[in-house]
Amino acid sequence: MAVDFQQLIVGAGFSGLGAAIRLQQSGRSNFMIFEKADRIGGTWRDNVYPGCACDVPSHLYSFSFAQNPNWSRVFSRQPEILAYMETCVDRFNLREKIQLNTGIKALRFRETEGTWLVETEQGETFTARTVLLGLGPLNVPKIPDIPGQDSFSGVQFHTAQWRQDHDLQNKRVAIIGTGASAVQIIPEIAQKVQKLYIFQRTPPWVGPRPDAAVHSFVQGLFQRFPSLLWLPRTLIYRYLEFRGRGLFGNKSAHLSMQKRALKHIRDSIADPVLREKVTPQYQIGCKRILLSEDYYPALQLPNVELITEAVTAIEGHTIIGAKGTGREIDTLIYATGFDAASYEKGLVIQGRNEQLLSNSWAKAGPEAYLGTTINGFPNLFSIIGPNTGLGHNSMIHMMESQYNYILSYLDLLEQQDARYLDVKADRQMAYNEEIQAQLADMVWSSGCNSWYQMDSGKNTTLWPGPTTTYRQKTRKVEVEDYQIVEKSATPDALSRA
Ligand code: NAP
Repeated sequence: MAVDFQQLIVGAGFSGLGAAIRLQQSGRSNFMIFEKADRIGGTWRDNVYPGCACDVPSHLYSFSFAQNPNWSRVFSRQPEILAYMETCVDRFNLREKIQLNTGIKALRFRETEGTWLVETEQGETFTARTVLLGLGPLNVPKIPDIPGQDSFSGVQFHTAQWRQDHDLQNKRVAIIGTGASAVQIIPEIAQKVQKLYIFQRTPPWVGPRPDAAVHSFVQGLFQRFPSLLWLPRTLIYRYLEFRGRGLFGNKSAHLSMQKRALKHIRDSIADPVLREKVTPQYQIGCKRILLSEDYYPALQLPNVELITEAVTAIEGHTIIGAKGTGREIDTLIYATGFDAASYEKGLVIQGRNEQLLSNSWAKAGPEAYLGTTINGFPNLFSIIGPNTGLGHNSMIHMMESQYNYILSYLDLLEQQDARYLDVKADRQMAYNEEIQAQLADMVWSSGCNSWYQMDSGKNTTLWPGPTTTYRQKTRKVEVEDYQIVEKSATPDALSRA
């Protein structure tokens, strides 16, 4: 049966764009990207807060198949990363393959055809043989409920919904949270605001950030000899992988990570009271390790106050901490992170036997096979799906491993002229049991609260080990992991499947 698209990609962020490029490179052209927003870019479109940058060096945080000789810094900032993504769209002629302002409402698997029925928020319907979800793990802002917050008479917003029309100059500002976003924002705004109150619930571990401009001579070399770009890429990748050992159970590597971060505190802060306030009481790596040279100096500016209390109430212009002290503010910034567990982002995804993904995941949380395919939801792929996140290296590397796997699946689907491939339930279960057993012994389970874990403590976000292992496992689809359903299968055979 004819379909509108052989592959439909949902989302034009890094994961969706990379998938499109790889599909194109594999000779596939009947694909389309649907993007909810009016511009490509995903997280790098949405996050425009001051200081927004990537804490993975750019020569690695970019596609291996679209390396960029022009990075201006080791750690590029958001505008340059977004511009890189736009360049990729042009370089690979993807504009005509992207339909903007098109949100997906529902995806329903039609078992007798082996295709997906796609319903958009705009009321259109399409059919696609396969669907690649590039929804991004961190884009649903999490804003805590604080008594009285609706009555706040100033301006309040989340870091991912930055109010560029709101000038912070000479304002009295409070920021709640000291995670990755806050640590980048605080140094940028501290000098400009009249007063900055930072509400810290848990201090982050912060290591040094060896940023530097890339000399124009070096850029010129990369432009002339693009293959040289593999050198920084490989060195950074290997270094991060080597350093990652500390998170996977290597005790001495872990200890030296922690020593380095403690030294960073001692080197940056003289005041013993402030040192104590910023020194975490949990193991390094349990939450994401942050990198900054200017965060600790910003905390020591005379107009900055680090308050180690929760916010308990807001009354008019006053923000009140747990000890009952009120502080007058004009602006409140929620640097309180994202809902990382909502993988399906409210989409209705209905698989075989009309089973809903939200129901399948309701009890044990999000689970997939190799973070990519899901039993009962054939011909569907989740890019950066469950347990593919990293605390030590570039997510682009993980995405590229997933692309290899997805292409191998598509090859098999086409070679076998099959209706669909469904990952076997027992394989998926065994795989998840294995990674959960590994995660139980790793630093992320050592007793801190983080978005890596569900309320139950189950870690549904991180890959438990080196990226080399994941790359190896996703090299190709193993036929025995899948139930292959022939196009000629009768309804009877389907119901037994
Ligand atoms: P986050 O790391 O989850 O940090 C949220 C902060 O808000 C934490 O300090 C948390 O405290 C605090 N918080 C949450 N709810 C609170 C409440 N009710 N009261 C008081 N404090 C509260 O969020 P994020 O900084 O937005 O970063 C999220 C992720 O985005 C990062 O981990 C990273 O993966 C990604 N990111 C990456 C980069 C990059 O450079 N690559 C930059 C920014 C963000 P607790 O620690 O006590 O929970």
